[in-house]
Amino acid sequence: MQLLKTVEGLHCYLVRLRAAPAAQTVGLVPTMGALHQGHASLIQRARQDNDQVVVSIFVNPLQFGPGEDLDQYPRTLSEDLRQCHDLGVDAVFAPTAAVLYGDSLEAGVTQVVPPPAMTACLCGRFRPGHFTGVATVVTKLLNLVQPDRAYFGQKDAQQLAILQQLVRDLNIASQIVPCPTVREADGLAVSSRNRYLSPQERQQATVLYQGLQAAAQRFQQGECQGQVLIDTVQAVLATVPAVRPQYVELVHPQTLTPLWQIDTVGLLAVAAHVGQTRLIDNWWLRSRRPIIAIDGPAGAGKSTVARRVAQTLDLLYLDSGAMYRAITWLVLQRGIDPQDEVAVAEVIPDCEIRLAAGEPGTPFPSRIWINDQEVTRAIRSPAVTQHVSTVAAQPMVRQRLLQQQQVHGVHGGIVMEGRDIGTQVFPQAELKIFLTASVQERARRRQRDLAAQQHPPVSLEDLAQAIDERDRKDSTRRVAPLQQADDAIELCTDGLTIDDVVAKIVHLYHQSLNAAATTAD
Ligand code: AMP
Repeated sequence: MQLLKTVEGLHCYLVRLRAAPAAQTVGLVPTMGALHQGHASLIQRARQDNDQVVVSIFVNPLQFGPGEDLDQYPRTLSEDLRQCHDLGVDAVFAPTAAVLYGDSLEAGVTQVVPPPAMTACLCGRFRPGHFTGVATVVTKLLNLVQPDRAYFGQKDAQQLAILQQLVRDLNIASQIVPCPTVREADGLAVSSRNRYLSPQERQQATVLYQGLQAAAQRFQQGECQGQVLIDTVQAVLATVPAVRPQYVELVHPQTLTPLWQIDTVGLLAVAAHVGQTRLIDNWWLRSRRPIIAIDGPAGAGKSTVARRVAQTLDLLYLDSGAMYRAITWLVLQRGIDPQDEVAVAEVIPDCEIRLAAGEPGTPFPSRIWINDQEVTRAIRSPAVTQHVSTVAAQPMVRQRLLQQQQVHGVHGGIVMEGRDIGTQVFPQAELKIFLTASVQERARRRQRDLAAQQHPPVSLEDLAQAIDERDRKDSTRRVAPLQQADDAIELCTDGLTIDDVVAKIVHLYHQSLNAAATTAD
């Protein structure tokens, strides 16, 4: 692991990376140090997704207001380095303020100001200038490291929403990856500031989580009115007078606009002082139907299983293959050469895709519209079939479809299969299945399929070798590599019929809904 303390050292490290024969993806985890389990979860996620992981450790003076804890903020560099090393980090960038801002901090630096509407609520109301400081330092870090992905915790939900807006508004190419809040066993969100708490305050601090849970429970029972949910949190906080709430608010998690009621999703957020320590926490409230994500290697039967599960549970099969076909259809329709990535990219901003369940009795798993024109049949033409893989391999096309798939995710009620659905597309899915089968079993199935298609016979060994090779490629590919989510249930289909597999998934689905209901009770 490299320790980089200067911008020059960081540049040198990155130049060496970019000169490597095989392209290296880079994940950045920005932190202020005093690393804990929350940071570790971000680093682990970055480790899973990227070839190289860079952690930055920098207590950013710009984001602290007068009278805040800049001087007392815990600084534990050698312990942090040990943790980074154990977590397999490749480089730690730990500059001083003078290194990062030069002399300009005193004289004033160019700053990045988030939209005022996003800082007029929650912590922004009580920490003027804080998010400008955060946006400025994160912009600098993204410019310096130019990572493929940067990882941020949902614990700091306002920061996350502002940074997602920032990369969109400033056309920064890094993807912001949100990571779930890590909690102590009693629910308290892990935070570097928890170490300021006395044992008694530590005990009292759990009331933040309990307040949010009480509101989440009312929400599960059908309460959507913002004020009622806020009052519920306030009432629980009031049971511990030593905890002094600063705000309890309900906002939209992306735009941060205040919500009077929840139609699809809301972010309930709280800040409170416990003794001298200011703590924050939040909880997402979603009134959407569940999502099932099915990932796994090629040939494990994912698409057949996903379609059947969707039919059985009356969920929408989110047919990504049909979505790629629809874009290809549009490209051909407009007379564009499918190989011309730039021309294809120009078409992308104005394609709006809509899916619905296929009509019974038709061979199509879903109905599909592009820009309000139904293309369910048209996308099955030989011309589309011939060009779809060329179009689907283009990163801009993938990015656009990812956005559109995630829009479906807002309302839920879907089943989707692929290689990274549980990790990248719908990390919030209620049920994640990793569907596998041994190489031997997949080779046998492939041999049966080929025979059924009157194909000349191929030996099991050759088929097994090809499958092995495909697995290796799929797990190491740069775009959308095959990934098993930490919370996915692995289901090996060796010796099982399709009916068996579908029945198992349907059972797991009901189990996961029951578990969610029990947690909420
Ligand atoms: P900080 O060092 O406090 O600036 O945090 C660095 C990153 O870790 C931010 O993206 C935080 O949102 C994230 N983080 C802090 N606490 C947690 C937690 N308990 N769970 C998940 N992420 C966290």
